[in-house]
Amino acid sequence: MMSTVRLLPCPCCGCRDLFAGVMSSSSYGVQCLCGLGVIERIPDEWPPGVWKRGVVADVNIERLHRYVLNQAVEKWNKRVPGGWCTEYIDIEPHIE
Ligand SMILES: [Zn+2]
Repeated sequence: MMSTVRLLPCPCCGCRDLFAGVMSSSSYGVQCLCGLGVIERIPDEWPPGVWKRGVVADVNIERLHRYVLNQAVEKWNKRVPGGWCTEYIDIEPHIE
């Protein structure tokens, strides 16, 4: 079943043309064309926040997948006030 979520624009480039959905057989995520994205893995252990009931495995699995996708959306939409980087880190290119 489809559902609608609201995504904030990309914090790097401001783009609103974003992908949200399945990333691999074991993960969901939100991705911007600029390369920025978040990935949320389907956990091995059943998360306590996900209702599991009865023996209808498909319904439970769908609920789990929906939960993981929503977690990815929540992660993407998170904005920390005053989150400017104040640390310096060393970077270098790697040439084979
Ligand atoms: Zn972007």
